[in-house]
Amino acid sequence: MRAMVLKELKGPLELRDVPKPKPGMGQLLVRVSACAVCRTDIHVVDGELPNPKLPLVLGHQIVGQIEEIGGENSNFAIGDRVGIPWLGWTDGDCSYCRSGRENLCDNARFTGYTIDGGYAEFTVADARYCFHLPERYGDVEVAPLLCAGLIGYRSYRKTGDARRLGIYGFGNAAHLIAQIAIYEERELFAFTRPGDKATQQAARELGAVWAGGSDEMPPEKLDSAIIFASVGTLVPTALRAIAKGGIVVCGGIHMSDIPSFPYVDLWEERVITSVANLTRQDGDEFFKIAPRVPVRTQTETFALEQANTALDLFRAGKLSATAVLTIAK
Ligand SMILES: [Zn+2]
Ligand SMILES: [Zn+2]
Repeated sequence: MRAMVLKELKGPLELRDVPKPKPGMGQLLVRVSACAVCRTDIHVVDGELPNPKLPLVLGHQIVGQIEEIGGENSNFAIGDRVGIPWLGWTDGDCSYCRSGRENLCDNARFTGYTIDGGYAEFTVADARYCFHLPERYGDVEVAPLLCAGLIGYRSYRKTGDARRLGIYGFGNAAHLIAQIAIYEERELFAFTRPGDKATQQAARELGAVWAGGSDEMPPEKLDSAIIFASVGTLVPTALRAIAKGGIVVCGGIHMSDIPSFPYVDLWEERVITSVANLTRQDGDEFFKIAPRVPVRTQTETFALEQANTALDLFRAGKLSATAVLTIAK
């Protein structure tokens, strides 16, 4: 089978013929039809995340069809459509797993990072971590929900019952989560790169009550804010924009350093938290609510062989929608 393989950090992906994987016990062999590109893929290539598997097949927003099942499986059948997310395996046994926090598992493995992912014609995945996907979505349009949607949703839930919700960095995840926030009647304040009038306009059209640059203060204090941009200076900025008791959620896997700030900005029970990975329960909840909203994705497709182009355009901020690799049969 063909796969786009990362041989060494910072190198381009190489199109290679590699042996078709075999499903082990409890694993699914999946013929990939679509795999969305995530900012995390860039962090992995650029060496900003420690110890990726090398050589590596990237990709953790995978949609495909089950061709083979290793052993018995009651949850999936051959021919089923399946979604494969970032969380690929946990030990089920550490203190985090046993307390409903498998996203923090000490021994977790991640798709497209420490397990081969979906920039390929086939992949194998542990059936226990795969999702059935809502029928209303096509393969390409549902793919971005598997990470930007899911982990965005976990970030959103961490903001509690915030009525006035700020979102810093209005990219893919923000676009998806904003739709849920508006559906749940939150007031949305969108912060973009200073001067990015087009994105501010898009946020208003989506239903934001206010949109401006990340260097601006909102017209009123926010109850909570999510930062999706990987820009550490936004943490003290967002802290200054939230009211007493507010929460700043850092939704990305990697962020540049956070500058120091006066304690008074954190005082009065303001909270800073990050969001790591996802639990299967996040997925179950999210795939119930997404089709009800319905959350709509915007995608731009690339052939598997064009994965480097998709990553380069993403890195340069030149994508206008989520890049999705489509894999021809
Ligand atoms: Zn564990
Ligand atoms: Zn991701």
